[in-house]
Amino acid sequence: MSLYIHIPYCERRCLFCGCHLFISKDHHAGGPYVDRLLAEAEIIAKRVGRDHRVMQLALGGGTPNFLLIEDMQRLIDGLRAIWEFPEEGERSIEIDVRTTDNAYMDRLLDMGFNRVSFGVQDLHPDVVSRVRKHQSQELVEAIVSHLLERKIQALNFDLIYGLPGQNPERFGQTIDETIRMRPSRIALFGYAHVPWMKSHQKVLERYGLPDEKERVQLWGIAFEKFRDAGYVPIGMDHFAEPHDELAQSQRVGRLNRNFMGYTTARGLDLVGLGVSSIASVGDVYVQNRKEIPPYMDDVDAGRLPWQKALTLSTEDKMRRDLIIDLFSNFTLDAAAFEKTWNVDFWKAFAAEREKLEPLAADGLVNLGDTRIDVTPLGRFFIRNICTVFDQYLDPTTQRFSKTV
Ligand code: SF4
Repeated sequence: MSLYIHIPYCERRCLFCGCHLFISKDHHAGGPYVDRLLAEAEIIAKRVGRDHRVMQLALGGGTPNFLLIEDMQRLIDGLRAIWEFPEEGERSIEIDVRTTDNAYMDRLLDMGFNRVSFGVQDLHPDVVSRVRKHQSQELVEAIVSHLLERKIQALNFDLIYGLPGQNPERFGQTIDETIRMRPSRIALFGYAHVPWMKSHQKVLERYGLPDEKERVQLWGIAFEKFRDAGYVPIGMDHFAEPHDELAQSQRVGRLNRNFMGYTTARGLDLVGLGVSSIASVGDVYVQNRKEIPPYMDDVDAGRLPWQKALTLSTEDKMRRDLIIDLFSNFTLDAAAFEKTWNVDFWKAFAAEREKLEPLAADGLVNLGDTRIDVTPLGRFFIRNICTVFDQYLDPTTQRFSKTV
């Protein structure tokens, strides 16, 4: 299985952030939370058994390294006592460089973490100051150098385009510096401005946000620089070194995408621990309670701390497969799909075909009798293409962030 653990604490809030978190300067708050994570794992183990191999472990947040190192150690030891973590598995953690040091990182490596993600976002001092994420390039570089000395090359950088203060020159410098530090994977996300959901983002409007045209320009600069530096574009928003497993999976059409982003593994059940975490097990999606007190109350009472659950219909699963294929591999073999799902593809998706025709006329997709292929231009608009197959999306009643 794949295991995601949400650590929802941060010392302060960055203004662009859309993550689910609570602000605290008291790092001891992580101790009781870890108690509940372990208790929740025991509740799950009672139901699904202990005989499982965790092939992927991911700690995200919030700030996972908000935890005191002794709490982190307790968490990892406790989980290892419940499930098996094979040596060849991936164990990744998101790190805020402002609240870590070499000694902390060394302990994480000793615990078995073998991939480290950095929320870099941008390296220009004016941009990071506007979004209130005061982290210097030197700080990022110091931790990266230390990890490279320790022979950890599985490093991820998350970058964001569309932030206030970004322009082609500044963002180009950020990309150049990123390439110089040579992380093995880069996620390049568009800033999602959703102040109706995240009211703190409203403050950023006083600086002026890049418009659609500027966003596309920033994205294009990054795309070209990464490509020219030898990175392989992965799916809609990632880049990877050619030898990285993501690039290899994409080459053989095995790339997958789940709540955490692109992944090499298909068919793993995803179990989530902690507030707001999402699980996808068999035909069921579940999301945990979002507030800490009710989450803890449920766990203390021996209950699964679920806020909501959804059982997928056959139609849901079929559409999920289709969307993941297009999102990940930019192609869909309709003939193979028909065999798997026992449907006449274009009969089942006749309404969608009608909506795809204008996109085909714009040169974004090629529609064949037995396949759909996203064109190189269409890759930039893959979200728009995939939403055609989303039967729950209702743009007349819902508001979303920009797709490009
Ligand atoms: S960007 Fe990271 S550090 Fe900043 S508030 Fe969000 S989760 Fe916390």
